[in-house]
Amino acid sequence: MNEAPLNRYLQRLIATHGPISMAQYMAEVLGHPEHGYYITREPFGPDGDFVTAPEVSQMFGELIGAWCADIWRQMGTPSTVRMVELGPGRGTLMSDALRATKGVPGFHEAVDLHLVETSARLRDLQAAALQGFAPTWHDQFSEVPPGPLLFIANELFDALPVHQFVVADGTWRERLIGLNDDGELAFTIGPALDGTPTRSPDPVAPAGTIRETCPIGTALARELGAFVAEQTGAGLIVDYGYSAPGFGDTVQAVQGHETHAVLSDPGMADLCAHVNFAALGDAARDGGAFVHGPVTQGEFLNRLGLRERAAALAAAAPSEASEIRTAAARLTDKSQMGSLFKVLALSSAGIAPAGFDA
Ligand code: SAH
Repeated sequence: MNEAPLNRYLQRLIATHGPISMAQYMAEVLGHPEHGYYITREPFGPDGDFVTAPEVSQMFGELIGAWCADIWRQMGTPSTVRMVELGPGRGTLMSDALRATKGVPGFHEAVDLHLVETSARLRDLQAAALQGFAPTWHDQFSEVPPGPLLFIANELFDALPVHQFVVADGTWRERLIGLNDDGELAFTIGPALDGTPTRSPDPVAPAGTIRETCPIGTALARELGAFVAEQTGAGLIVDYGYSAPGFGDTVQAVQGHETHAVLSDPGMADLCAHVNFAALGDAARDGGAFVHGPVTQGEFLNRLGLRERAAALAAAAPSEASEIRTAAARLTDKSQMGSLFKVLALSSAGIAPAGFDA
């Protein structure tokens, strides 16, 4: 019997209202105001459920800070720039980025820091990490005031809810979560759709084929694209995911660094889906932005000078040299985060973001 606090709530919800989509399931599991994963759990670090790139090494945030300062220069050093992080976690990335750019003349004076974060508990940690930078918090990116923009979203899009669709009885149907005969959460399928679920038609997919869409993610990419196009600026979307459309079921639950059954212990394990970078790029282009990449995280960081930064840090602290080498490898090796993680940049016209092909 599954006694996770959210389980009974979901069972009651489904018993009363019928099966729910994977998107609603993800939204409840991650964001339920009382029992949601990001509300109640400490996901990050060795004692948590997963480790993100900025938590692996300070080099990640430092290089992204330098990337931002370079964009600011390309924009003509505007006297105010909105520096926005979406889903800042513990605030580690932004704190490393700002420390690394202390010496850039005029940059800190121009930075107006905005954080888009839904978890009150994480907002407290971000406030502690970013003391002195007077951030403004928002529930949604749409609340950020207009102005030249720099933005970064690391491992945010993978947490945004996806819908799943499956081919059954010769037609596309939504994959839903209902209750089995014992009243436990179980997958089921909904009525036939009118057309195909994704933008690219996929009429001949064989039975059992699964496609995912992330309407909240594509809407956000479009909004970010429109903002940079209209206000000038650039930003980075970093996440694990795929560059070409056409993947299957990518939703996974992770607890204590191990994968976990998606429908077990809702709210006790992280739930995420691979990011469809082709769809995000299309949406940002629809919004009016120039889209760069995606390139792999390994390529991106090496082009920004990760190896040189690692060598400099190791020379300054020889006793930590092997730790620094391990962290650099973890961020860039194909067998680790280097290849599955990808980086997409959005920009206004006339900006050549570092780390991407010209
Ligand atoms: N960027 C951080 C944290 C990644 S975890 C890092 O790399 O370490 C995902 C982050 O996004 C958390 O801070 C979580 O609370 C936040 N988050 C999740 N869903 C969100 C949403 N819909 N809007 C804004 N923030 C969200």
